[in-house]
Amino acid sequence: MAKKKPERRRREQRFYPQSNANPWVVRAIGAVGAILLGAGAYEQFMASHAAWKYTPHMLALGALAFAMSIWFGTSGDPTLRVGDGGVGLDRGTVERIPWYGVSEIAFDPKVDAVVVSGKDESGKKAKILAKLTSQPQAAAWIVKEANERIPKLVELSAESEQKIPEPRADVGDIILLEPLQIVGKRCAATDKIIAYEPDARVCPRCERVYYKKSVPKKCACGASLAALRDPKLVDADDEDEDEDSEEAETKSETEAEAGPDDAKTAAEDDESETHEETT
Ligand SMILES: [Zn+2]
Repeated sequence: MAKKKPERRRREQRFYPQSNANPWVVRAIGAVGAILLGAGAYEQFMASHAAWKYTPHMLALGALAFAMSIWFGTSGDPTLRVGDGGVGLDRGTVERIPWYGVSEIAFDPKVDAVVVSGKDESGKKAKILAKLTSQPQAAAWIVKEANERIPKLVELSAESEQKIPEPRADVGDIILLEPLQIVGKRCAATDKIIAYEPDARVCPRCERVYYKKSVPKKCACGASLAALRDPKLVDADDEDEDEDSEEAETKSETEAEAGPDDAKTAAEDDESETHEETT
């Protein structure tokens, strides 16, 4: 019944921080460093005459200028990732706040940054900043994706929204991610640990994981999960805490009496209902 969509690889974009320094100054210092290093290296290691006594100084100075250009060329801000896995801080290893872990997306005018607050994959409190000066496109993509995935948690004033640039498609590197690690995760509805991957259903918007028999009609992120619910599996008893539980129970009773085709129409009705609620 729930049609299996063709597998789409999870992906995200990687955004490098931009420097606030004048790029020409950075290039000039870098060039001087490179020249000194090159000349110093020639004098020290390659020239046939005896090395000039200041050569080691030249090498050291060259290395320093070169390092300075790298230092100025990259702001101290981290590389960020935005995509199916949530918002990530990339420092060699990536710490992510998955979309289902986000508690709020806001704008901090003091630092001119989009701030993602929530919990990381291990459940630890986390906060990721995308400053408009160093990470304008990461900020833009965080807001764009959050508006599509977790619209209720985006708290931006019209004023701050205007400061955030339009997301551009050609800025971040596209990175393909491994499939979501599901085994060992807890069902978002029942807290039951998922021991067997085919037992799980994953919300395509926020990546919350549900046990196949406990998929609610609507995910906590607001997405309709009607397409992931198999009326033959969804156990009405598991849904007592769901606000729509009464409705769901009546539905599953009718479905039980009716043939499978009717059940399908019922499931489709569910979907259209949920859409109306969300819009
Ligand atoms: Zn969801």
